[in-house]
Amino acid sequence: MQVDGFEFFGHIINNEEVPSLDGDTMPDIDPYTREQWATIACGGKADADLAVAAAREAFDHGPWPRMGFEKRQQLMHRLADLMEEHADELAMADTLDMGKPITQSHHDVTRSVLNIRFFADHARMSTGEALPMDSGHHAYTVYEPAGVVAAISPWNFPLMLGTWKVAPALAWGNTVVWKPAEDTPTSATIMGRLAVEAGFPPGVLNIVHGYGPDSAGAALTQNPDVDRITFTGESSTGKIITGVAAHNLTPVSLELGGKGANIVFDDADLDNAVHWAIEAIFRNAGQVCLAGSRLYVQRGIYEEFMRRYKIAAEALVMGDPKDPATQFSSALASQEHFAKVSSYLGTEALGGGRILTGGLGEGWSVKPTIVTDAPGDARVVKEEIFGPVTVATVFDTEDEAIAMANDTRYGLNAMVFTENLSRAHRVSGQLKAGTVWTNCFFIRDLRAPFGGVGDSGLGREGGNFSREFMTEPKAVVMQIDRG
Ligand code: NAD
Repeated sequence: MQVDGFEFFGHIINNEEVPSLDGDTMPDIDPYTREQWATIACGGKADADLAVAAAREAFDHGPWPRMGFEKRQQLMHRLADLMEEHADELAMADTLDMGKPITQSHHDVTRSVLNIRFFADHARMSTGEALPMDSGHHAYTVYEPAGVVAAISPWNFPLMLGTWKVAPALAWGNTVVWKPAEDTPTSATIMGRLAVEAGFPPGVLNIVHGYGPDSAGAALTQNPDVDRITFTGESSTGKIITGVAAHNLTPVSLELGGKGANIVFDDADLDNAVHWAIEAIFRNAGQVCLAGSRLYVQRGIYEEFMRRYKIAAEALVMGDPKDPATQFSSALASQEHFAKVSSYLGTEALGGGRILTGGLGEGWSVKPTIVTDAPGDARVVKEEIFGPVTVATVFDTEDEAIAMANDTRYGLNAMVFTENLSRAHRVSGQLKAGTVWTNCFFIRDLRAPFGGVGDSGLGREGGNFSREFMTEPKAVVMQIDRG
């Protein structure tokens, strides 16, 4: 269907793809061409409330929470199969929406499919606890679905972070209203269409598009019929959502911003460390919460490391995100985001630091940028830029590196590069972060806790951690022995 001459993507409510109740739409801009490529239904409070009502009805009276783990697992695998069949369409949707290189969008689709399969299987394989009591009683736990889950996701991994929330919610028998980011809505609608095709009952997976404040996003967080809010996005938004959710005592799970420290000791395998230091900040043009945006390199290897790092950054193939040869996109996600990232290249934000390589690119792009000599209190060091800008700092001792790494209000992740096993354990143990990678980056086990400390989040998701959030654990206590 075409609206205003462009392909139309609607909300998915009760298994129907629908426009907004008031007919409102928003243009979807391809940041590489800087032109509209699709028209999106723009929802407001009425649309969000309608989606929640559909999810509520499906949870209270529909088959989904009652059909059991095995049937849900089968339907989720059917959805995953269809997503694999439509991988090209899904990947291109994210690339057109936010300028992500197509090879990386394909990687995201693969990971999204894995999210769905993993959580479907994980829920089916989960066991409760049996707690024999000395008193002649016996207690056991049951993990019951929480109800209606509102999932609010950001634009940097549109499908992958959406499925990271939607999949555990569904697997545990909840019904869902998913609001994707306004800049990257289309892969969600495509997935919603596929869920209908897979045979999901009406009202189980609802998708509502729109903005956050005073719009569909805020309405979801205010609705008393929502039982859980799982949010990924900016720390400031997470704080607003927590305040709103408190009125209904709705539990929230928050995955927020980061300013990851990447510590390279002078005994590190240099090729490996340079490879991951490049990935850590230039993958997805640094629009990654986990980005290793603060690089700390020990003095003994600083010069050689920086020489290789600069060469590797300059060698990244920059270009059209639709071209499979492109490693680094010639477009940040939106004009607004381009303005934000470029503001960090100005004198005030650099605070005396200098740009070793990089700077502004064509259109809405910033080249792979390395900053050196910035003082620890410069904005470019302190604030989340969420773009392809890394700040390199030299250090002498282990204690100094740990102190600098921990000097942040964020605490999502950190990386340590060393061939010394004792040091790897010692330093990992002292870093204030939800995840520490040693001699690698971005490697995930979906059973592991994922989340951050400080301004990087609240709670953990993944494996049993998602189960704790997406269910109401119940204790049943039985008298066994009356003797
Ligand atoms: P954002 O907070 O602006 O928006 C995220 C989502 O929240 C969008 O869907 C938006 O419409 C919605 N929203 C905005 N205001 C809202 C409100 N008042 N009520 C309800 N919903 C609202 O974030 P963004 O710019 O889309 O994403 C970038 C941020 O996300 C960065 O800070 C990044 O670090 C963070 N992030 C964190 C993780 C993680 O796992 N910790 C992963 C990816 C991104």
